[in-house]
Amino acid sequence: MCRTDDSGAAWAWLDWRDVPEIAPPRGTRDILPPDSYAWRWLLDTHRSVVESYGYQPLDTPVMESTDLFARGVGADTDIVEKQMFTFSDRGGRSLTLRPEGTAGVVRAVLGKRLDQEMRPVRVHYAGPFFRAENPQRGRYRQFAQVGVECIGERSPALDAEIVEMAWRFFERLGITGLQLQLNTLGDRDDRARYREALVNYYTPLRDDLCDDCKRRLESNPLRLLDCKADARFAEKAPLIWDLLDAGSKEFFTTVAEMLEDADVVAHINHRIVRGLDYYTDTVFEIWHESLHGQQNSLGGGGRYDGLAEALGFPSTPGVGYALGVDRSLLVAEQLGVVPPPRPSCDALVVSVETPQARRAAAIARALRGAGLRVVLDVSDRRLDRKLRNADKLGAPLAVIIGEDEARDGTATIRDLSRRAQETVSEQAMVAVVTDALERLA
Ligand code: AMP
Repeated sequence: MCRTDDSGAAWAWLDWRDVPEIAPPRGTRDILPPDSYAWRWLLDTHRSVVESYGYQPLDTPVMESTDLFARGVGADTDIVEKQMFTFSDRGGRSLTLRPEGTAGVVRAVLGKRLDQEMRPVRVHYAGPFFRAENPQRGRYRQFAQVGVECIGERSPALDAEIVEMAWRFFERLGITGLQLQLNTLGDRDDRARYREALVNYYTPLRDDLCDDCKRRLESNPLRLLDCKADARFAEKAPLIWDLLDAGSKEFFTTVAEMLEDADVVAHINHRIVRGLDYYTDTVFEIWHESLHGQQNSLGGGGRYDGLAEALGFPSTPGVGYALGVDRSLLVAEQLGVVPPPRPSCDALVVSVETPQARRAAAIARALRGAGLRVVLDVSDRRLDRKLRNADKLGAPLAVIIGEDEARDGTATIRDLSRRAQETVSEQAMVAVVTDALERLA
């Protein structure tokens, strides 16, 4: 199908009905402007908060050896059993799209022995994660998380630091209505005792448990507490707190006190156990009142002193969190705290006649050299159309190069809100434009 636009030029348009619809895969989304600005605002805010605590940026691959997650997350967790995107590479090796960040970060940090150079190693990351879930609002197959890990030292001060950072992040975003749920899982011995207590409690109920839980009763009884189908039994299950030794209780009490000092209000909830296998001591989740059911959590984390060993490294303590970007943005939008997108350009440089295109391009280059964001429009659309485009881009100024300007070595600068304009020499142009933008800011 062919259409002609208002400048008379013929454009080959494809009718949308001719375009084969290739939708994004189920459970994945495109993040287009202006939503992409909200996305970036959230990531920038996270970076700024955690870097103020000395955390350094890090990136790890989005695909890893499947074994990393089987060992690091736990072979009998929902994530590993049901939610991984796993495939073979051309050499027959099993790879998995990362369902979570901690195992990869610990592999990267300890693999390069960063903990020998500084202790603890404080790092932060942001990126996509993948889980084969039933997609719904707030639950996707590709989602994004921001996270931090603090590796190499065991101290309640570090657990408190992590929780406080997550809290400060949401505070900085302006998200209210949060509830911090805090618990401890104790150390390895406490967990062994707790495991036994759970087996004693659940064994007489075995026939009424779902098939998954019957299996978990043998493999990982702590997971029974996370099961939605058998939630009614979890209510009366023994509490880990009652089985902790004095050292574990003291560790947790110090974390809670330090959070109180930081004005972070924690709800102690001994039912929070988290789905991942490697947690010890502090575990936490941050819930939002507007989210319900399984999607009520914006993020969580905790201490994972058992993870390094599970991955085959020398035993190394660590603590961290992962916060969901998609869900946090849903809440931020509901609360109306997302700032309006920043205009994408400071000035639009337009040529009135196509022969002026090279001069216009040179002027745009000079303005960018002065640090401005400049869009160049040398198309043969009418000038009023081009200026309307400037409005959409949020550009307060247009720099117009027509036949006269090209001949005289000048440029016309138009203030688009006041519709005032002046013609200046090319030498003075950059200074005039930057001054005008400062005045308008
Ligand atoms: P988790 O690693 O399961 O503790 O998840 C931490 C946070 O990541 C959650 O609280 C969510 O905000 C987010 N998250 C986890 N899974 C998904 C998902 N499938 N879709 C969207 N967000 C998710």
